[in-house]
Amino acid sequence: MNPVTKVSKFTLKERFEKAVKGEALDIVPVCSVTQTGTFELMEMTGAYWPQANYEAEKMATLAMAGYEIAGFENVRCPFCTTVLAETLGCTVAEGSIDIQPYVSDFPCKKKEDVKHITVPDSLLKSRRTSVVLDAVGIIKGKVGEDVPVIAGLVGPAGLASMLAGIRNYLMWFVTNPEAVEELMGILIDACIEYANALLESGADAITLIDSEAGPDIIAPQMFQTSVFPLYRKFCREVKGMKILHMCGDAVAVLDPLADAGFDGISIEEKVSVSFAKELVGNRVRLIGNVSPSDTLLTKGPETVMIEATACLDDGIDILAPGCGLAPHTPLENIKALLKARDIYFSQ
Ligand SMILES: [Zn+2]
Repeated sequence: MNPVTKVSKFTLKERFEKAVKGEALDIVPVCSVTQTGTFELMEMTGAYWPQANYEAEKMATLAMAGYEIAGFENVRCPFCTTVLAETLGCTVAEGSIDIQPYVSDFPCKKKEDVKHITVPDSLLKSRRTSVVLDAVGIIKGKVGEDVPVIAGLVGPAGLASMLAGIRNYLMWFVTNPEAVEELMGILIDACIEYANALLESGADAITLIDSEAGPDIIAPQMFQTSVFPLYRKFCREVKGMKILHMCGDAVAVLDPLADAGFDGISIEEKVSVSFAKELVGNRVRLIGNVSPSDTLLTKGPETVMIEATACLDDGIDILAPGCGLAPHTPLENIKALLKARDIYFSQ
C-alpha cells in the first residue's frame, strides 16, 4: 500500500462513491470502469482467456488482479461485450488468449426478424449472464465492503448493432427508424433487468457501454430521439450507481448525456477533459481518459504519467483508461496511473 492511500481517511469504496457523487475528496481515485484483463495478469494468475470469459472463478481471479496487482482502486468485470448479445440470440466465437469473444452471426437479418427478439424469462440464468453474476458474487465475497466492484454491460444501441449487424443498424436509422427503435425498446428492458441483478449480486456500480449511440456512429438528433429516452428509463429503473461509457468523440451528445441520470460518463482521449467539464458542469462526473491504445499499450510509463497528470490538472473526477485495456498493455504502464496520482497529490 502506498503512503498516500494509507493516510486517506476513506476506504477505496467510500472514495469512489464520493467521487461519483461529486463530493469533496482528499485524492482522486484511480479506477477502470472498462475491461482490465491483460496478458501479463493472466500469466501471473493462471486465469487466461478464453476460459476467464466463461468460468466464474477464473473471471473473478483475473478481475481481482486488476486491483491486487495492477493497482486499480476497484475490481471490474467482465472482459468482453458479448454477454447479453449471446444471451439474446447472437452467435459468439469464444476468442483466444488475446482476443475477446466476438459476434460471428446475428439474428436480425431483416427488420421483420425484430419481432422474434424477446427478453427470455431465463435472462439471468443464461450460460453467459450467470457466469458474470456468479463472478461478481465471488469478487464481493473476497473484497468485502472496502473496495468498489464495477460490472459492465452493453447498452441498447450497442446491443442493437450486434443483434441486427452494424449495417442494418445504421441503415434502419434512415430507412426504418421504427424497427431499430422497437429493437432497442426490447433491449433496454434486458439491460435494466441484468444491471439490477449485477447490483444485487454485489456490484457497487455498473458501466453501460454504448458507443454505437455516439456521434461517431449516429447523428446526435438520432441519439436524442431514439436513445436518450431509453437512457432516462434505464437510469430511473436501475437502483445503484450508473456510469455510461462511450467510445470516440462524444462531445456532441455530452450535454444531453449529462441530464440522462447517469452518475458518471467515461470518456475517451478524443474528448478534452477541460472542455467536457465546462459542458457538463456539476451535472455529472467525468471518468477517463488516458489513451488505452496510443499511450497505455504502446508508450512507456513516463508518457502515461504525463497524460495522467494532464487529466488531473484538467479536473477529471476519476482517473482511468479512456476505454478497455488492450490485452498486451504492459503492467508497468497500468501501475504508472496510480504512481502519477500519488505524486500529484503528495505535492
Ligand atoms: Zn471505449
